[in-house]
This record gives sequence, structure tokens and C-alpha cells, in this order.
Amino acid sequence: MTSGRTVHVIGAGLAGLSAAVALTRQGARVIVHEAAPRAGGRCRSYYDRTLGQTIDNGNHFVFSGNQAVRRYLQVLGTADRLEGPSHADFAFHDLRDGSRWTLAVNDSPLPWWVLDPRRRTPGTSLGEHMALARLALSRPGSATIADRVDSHGTFWDRVVDPMMLAVLNCPPAEGSAWLAGRFLRESFARGGRACRTMVAVPNLDAVFIDPALTWLNTRNVQVRFGARLRGLVMEGDHVTALDFGAGEEALGGATVVLAVPPWVAGELIRELVVPDRFCSILNAHFACAPPPGARTITALIGGTAQWVVCHPDRISITISGADDVIDEDREALAARIWKDIVPMLGLDTPMPTWQIVKERRATFAATPMQDARRPSTRTRWRNLFLAGDWTQTGLPATIEGALRSGEAAARLAVAS
Ligand SMILES: Cc1cc2nc3c(=O)[nH]c(=O)nc-3n(C[C@H](O)[C@H](O)[C@H](O)COP(=O)(O)OP(=O)(O)OC[C@H]3O[C@@H](n4cnc5c(N)ncnc54)[C@H](O)[C@@H]3O)c2cc1C
Repeated sequence: MTSGRTVHVIGAGLAGLSAAVALTRQGARVIVHEAAPRAGGRCRSYYDRTLGQTIDNGNHFVFSGNQAVRRYLQVLGTADRLEGPSHADFAFHDLRDGSRWTLAVNDSPLPWWVLDPRRRTPGTSLGEHMALARLALSRPGSATIADRVDSHGTFWDRVVDPMMLAVLNCPPAEGSAWLAGRFLRESFARGGRACRTMVAVPNLDAVFIDPALTWLNTRNVQVRFGARLRGLVMEGDHVTALDFGAGEEALGGATVVLAVPPWVAGELIRELVVPDRFCSILNAHFACAPPPGARTITALIGGTAQWVVCHPDRISITISGADDVIDEDREALAARIWKDIVPMLGLDTPMPTWQIVKERRATFAATPMQDARRPSTRTRWRNLFLAGDWTQTGLPATIEGALRSGEAAARLAVAS
């Protein structure tokens, strides 16, 4: 299929790469412009000299039921490099009393796991789980999760709070009920087969980024690194030129997919309303092999560390909604996080070499007010389309949302 159209994709994060791949498949002539010397944006790997290892900027989880992830990786040929458990089992450890349990979602969409106290979170009732169904039915609007679910007690502490903090990356009580509900509908409501937690092995670049660059390269798509868009020239209802700092480059009828972060889009196009509150994510990496038999992913409750991911050669810890800790002394923070995981993993070694990676504007805060600021893919300029996890995807800021936004922008760009 050929559309014969030239499309400039600005930004080589997942949204931009997804758009570039989809556009190329639809026959467009694509040029990708990326400000950084590398692709991946907020989803990337790098060689860390302190650890002597290639690590991801942070643990990234996707769900087995993420459809855009599956489509994108199938095109790239790396779908089999997402690894996860064979069933949707979520391991938990509560540091406050040392208790451990596994939330075991059954495979089929009929959620009989909630009827079985051995599969549910200890101390929670069937009735409390009905609140998740109410949340899943939320409509777009101003309701927060706390408007739908009682934000006190064991069910909140052990189920809603850890799950929604990870998914929305903002204080769960303030989180958008609609976005939380969309997540639940696309994961738990579809049964365990759709909500196995998957990670990219050996790292994000190898699964999501490098294969996309290779795929584009073999199809003669030019990816220009170090190309920071500094201005768009608008005339009437069209963008007519792009400015990368060396003067205006006329578009000559080409189309633009703007796949930059929201704060950049807002600076480039002043009249655009974009999310303007962000939450951080902090990851700590410890260069030591986990003990034999350690679970790949465990959720921690009652400490500073929230999610513990055991890689063969390191242990990586995620703290979502990390604004409270992000400015703490790094050494003290690493020691505190290590102290959390020692009892959980039964470690008896001194703290190994560590690294802390901070992402201050990891995602927009998924509150109702911020969700209302997300623009749609179309703009009032007929040849300009937006992509990014912050556009109106109907999902929280996720890999799935970013990839879908790129597909949507590509579809509209080709049809325009
Ligand atoms: C630490 C961390 C952990 C996360 N964990 C998860 C997770 O577990 N699961 C999940 O689904 N999601 C997770 N996310 C979110 C996920 O990473 C993002 O949703 C996704 O990467 C966003 O992709 P994007 O393309 O929309 O934006 P970005 O990745 O921000 O891409 C935008 C690109 O535009 C480029 N750019 C900026 N300005 C310009 C300019 N002027 N000209 C040209 N290029 C420009 C940037 O360099 C960047 O490459 C996490 C994010 C972080 C930071």
C-alpha cells in the first residue's frame, strides 16, 4: 500500500516510533526528527558505568493483554522477548508485619478468584472487591478513585493503593476514576490471560527501541538525531514550515506528527492546552544477583520501595509517585531502600554497588483535572497531528497509550 505522502515525525519516543512504523507500513515517506542523540525518550536503556551494566531508566511493566504493544512488537519481531509468569499471580510482601501473599487472578474473564479467600488479598472481603467493578464502570469526568472506593482500611492499603499508584503514578486518592476504570477494563476485567505482568528482556532498548530503528532503517526511513524542533510556522489552517534552528524549512504539502512531551508541545504551540502537572518515578538498582528462586516481581507495602524486580544480575526497585523522596540524599535513600529489600529477599550481604535514576517528569499526574487537559490527536491545523502518552488516549500515561497514540496519528495523517 502506498499513500505517497511525506510525514515528518517529531520525537523518537515510543509514540513517535509507533507513528513512524505505522506510517511506513501505510506507504508514507517518513522522516523522524529527534532532539536527543538517541531514541526511546522516557523508555530507554543505557550503559551505567557505576554498575558496569546496561540498565533501563526504570522498570517498565506491560500487560499481556496490551494490544498495541503486541501489534508493535509483532511488526518488529520481538513479541517473544516480553517475559512474564504463565498466570496472573501478583506476589506481595507487607513490611509492617512481614506477611506475604499472592493475589492469583484466574485465567478466564469470569472473575471467580474474588470468591476464593486464598486467591484474594488477606484481610479483604468479596464485598470490597465489588468497588473495583464500580470503578471499572466509571465514565469520563471529575470523579476521583476516592469518590468510588473507601480510601481507608486494608482493602485500600493492600489492593487499591499499590495497584493504582503504579498504574496512575499519582496519589491514588486523587487519581481519575475514569482512567483507573479504563485500566481495569483492559486488564483485570478481561481475566488473568490479559493481566500477566510482562517485562522486556534483556532490556527496553533491545525489545522496543533498537528493533524499531533497524526496521525503519531497512526501509530507508531517515532518523535525524540531534534535531530539536524549535518552531512551527502556521498559516491559516496549515503548518507551512518547521524550524530546527537553521532557518525555516518549508513543508511543501507534507504532514507533521508532533510526538514530543507535553511541556515541549505546549511551548511550541502556545494555544495548545496540555497536562501541566507531573509526577516523578525513582528507580534504584543494586548490582547483585538475587537469591535463587526469588520471584521476578514483588510488590512491597509499608516501606519506601514499592516494586522489586529481580534480574539475573541486579535487583531494581521502583518508587512511583516519588515526589516526596526524589530530593532526598541519594546515599541515605539507597540505604533505606536496601533495608526494605533485605528482609523481603532474605539477603545477608552488605549493600552492593547501587545507582539511583530519577525521572522528575515521568508522567502527567493522572487526576481528573489533568485528564481534561489532554488534547486529541487532531489539531485545528489540518496537517498537524499529536501523539504521546499525554494525548487523549483514554488510558493513563503508559507504553500502551503511547503506542496507540502513534497509531492513531498515523491513521489520521494518511487519511488527511
Ligand atoms: C521511570 C519510568 C517508569 C515507567 N514505567 C512504566 C511502566 O511500568 N509501564 C508503562 O506502560 N509505562 C511506564 N512509563 C511511561 C512510559 O515510559 C511512557 O508512557 C512512554 O515512554 C512515553 O512515550 P512518548 O513517546 O509519549 O514520550 P517520550 O518518551 O517523552 O518521547 C518524546 C520524545 O521527543 C523528543 N523531543 C523532545 N523535544 C523535542 C523537540 N523539540 N524536537 C524533537 N524531539 C524532541 C524526546 O527527546 C523524546 O525522545 C514509565 C516512565 C518512566 C519515566
